[in-house]
Amino acid sequence: MAISVTYTVTALLDVNAQQDLDDRAESRTYIVADRHSRKAVIIDAVIENVERDLKTIKELDLILTFAVETHIHADHITGASIIRDRTGAHIVYGGGMEGLVTGVDIFLRDGQELRFGNTVMQALATPGHTDSCTSYLIPGTVFTGDSLWIRGNGRTDFQGGSADKLFDSVHKKLFVLPDETIVYPGHDYNGRVSSTIGEEKQFNERLNLSTNREKFVEIMNGRTMLRPAKMDVAIPANMRAGRIAEEEKELRRGGIASSSSILPPTGALDVQRANRSCG
Ligand code: FE
Repeated sequence: MAISVTYTVTALLDVNAQQDLDDRAESRTYIVADRHSRKAVIIDAVIENVERDLKTIKELDLILTFAVETHIHADHITGASIIRDRTGAHIVYGGGMEGLVTGVDIFLRDGQELRFGNTVMQALATPGHTDSCTSYLIPGTVFTGDSLWIRGNGRTDFQGGSADKLFDSVHKKLFVLPDETIVYPGHDYNGRVSSTIGEEKQFNERLNLSTNREKFVEIMNGRTMLRPAKMDVAIPANMRAGRIAEEEKELRRGGIASSSSILPPTGALDVQRANRSCG
């Protein structure tokens, strides 16, 4: 059945000179705009990129209505609160975080919808990378955060992560979507922009349609990864929807090198980089 596409998607890639020390590089932000009304949502805004994102929204002549998060990120601070202050857009998090997160306007539980113009975005609870990860589905397109990546998946070793839950989320919530559904991930460390559900069912390296659950859990639980460089700053800030406390502002002013507590032990940068990503 042909899908009547009511929206456009603008993919914004994170470009970061510090990428060897700061694993927010390769974070993906998306602007989804309703063609008819010009109303738009931004998904997973990164605080360092807010000016770029607002400039793009202005250039495209959009009315930003929602700033949406796929999960509590550990690698970067969300730009949602600054965007709310500047545009009046409401902040949307997935369900399961009510009472834990402050500064959020709407918590979208599994199956609940967000409407902007003629476009409807549905929340799909996809826990596993973290316990409250949410993907967002518009007919023909799904934004998967760190649940499903292009040929990969997010790590499952912190914030209530569970390889077992991720297996179910991907198989029961994402792989049941039409094969032609376009997948936009939360990160890609290889410069790719999008995939499809059909491609990932077949070619995803750790979690495809043929993957055995026990084998997947064993692989994920057997991995040893370093903490993301900004984790101790990012998670508390993201629990406030990106509102930054004074001590964190100070930390950001000095850059990540000013805090030995959030730097990994010494070692080759390429090794650190390979181990500190979200995947
Ligand atoms: Fe993540």
